[in-house]
Amino acid sequence: MTTTFEPATMPAVKRQQLAHLTAQMDALKQGGTYFKLRVLDDEQGPVCSYDGRRVINLSSNNYLGLCEHPKLKEAAIAATQKYGAGSGAVRTIAGTMRIHMELEEKIAAFKNVEACVVFQSGFTANAGTVSSILGKEDFILSDELNHASIIDGARLSRAKIKVFRHKDVAHAEELLREIENEPGRKLIITDGVFSMDGDIGPVDKLADLAEKYGAIMMVDDAHASGVLGRNGRGSVDHFGAHGRVDVQVGTLSKAIGSLGGYVCGSRDLIDYLYHRARPFLFSTSHPPSVAASCIAAFDILENEPERIERLWSNTAYFKQQLADAGFDVGGVTTPKSETPITPIIIGDGRRTMDYSKALFEAGVMATGIAFPTVPEGRARVRTIMTSEHTREQIDQALEIFVSVAKKTGILS
Ligand code: PMP
Repeated sequence: MTTTFEPATMPAVKRQQLAHLTAQMDALKQGGTYFKLRVLDDEQGPVCSYDGRRVINLSSNNYLGLCEHPKLKEAAIAATQKYGAGSGAVRTIAGTMRIHMELEEKIAAFKNVEACVVFQSGFTANAGTVSSILGKEDFILSDELNHASIIDGARLSRAKIKVFRHKDVAHAEELLREIENEPGRKLIITDGVFSMDGDIGPVDKLADLAEKYGAIMMVDDAHASGVLGRNGRGSVDHFGAHGRVDVQVGTLSKAIGSLGGYVCGSRDLIDYLYHRARPFLFSTSHPPSVAASCIAAFDILENEPERIERLWSNTAYFKQQLADAGFDVGGVTTPKSETPITPIIIGDGRRTMDYSKALFEAGVMATGIAFPTVPEGRARVRTIMTSEHTREQIDQALEIFVSVAKKTGILS
């Protein structure tokens, strides 16, 4: 028997207490950047159904189509049958299952590092690591476009935060020189691939700096895992920088097709995180189904490299066609995309959201992204290509991008 609840109405006095939040949402509505969540009705594929409408999906991080891969589903079902639905506890209490250890060993071997620890998300991997390996006497040198989870981790660490201009290695060095004689440790951190512009972080050059100034080098490979490097080994492999990056973070929730984050590095680093990283210590581990799907995903990366080849050839084609049609795909007011993330820069927040809505009505899901996620005046419709889009779907999407842009005055 199911219990039904009447939808509750908040008493006016309570509503008043949160009036400052309502006012902020009203301001977003005025500015045209308020959004409603779109709800997916079926699988996260290249074409799927949101809110009952079938659209070509250009907003998913499912780069290699692994979210719907039969081997990931089968592995999840088998692990659920064997281990149950949940892990039942924090890893250090009673929630470490053999399958969690297998996943960590698999990733460490794949990334060619001593050891790996898996977190519940990429967000907690970054925030939990940065906040625990630095203290208030230390310094963090962070690219201005690094992900929010790095920023939050840095704030939680209470280290002194020095922000360098986007990919500006000379600026990073200038900041390092200013603190060269300070006793605190220094950590240099960059995204491997920047999530809003799709450009690649200068991992090799920052690693040079780290070596020159005795700093710790850290990379967040959320959008590089499964995308860059041999078989998707990430930005360190892409730059041939093995052994030069102390801390490599990645996610399991984008190209890997499931959920979670991981940190790779020395055995000592991973041991330390087992003992000190707060999301590891105070939050329950993945359900076994998730760990099993991730293991299956790494096997696919090793055995089906053609997925990554398709991803890059689709990306090259789509980017070129967009540029040829006259869209600003970065490189002028914003960095130039080099990866399957291609922004279409519109500038104004309201125009961007209106364009995104019109695209959806016409059959393409491409999310509008405005301030504060991206700088003011650089709002964009962000597209993400996958290996699973067919040429026909890409051409159809391109036609829709152009015809809607002409209708709405984005292209003349
Ligand atoms: N880092 C970057 C650069 C990201 O784009 C994201 C996801 N938006 C994360 C970290 C967090 O990853 P997850 O979604 O697995 O928490």
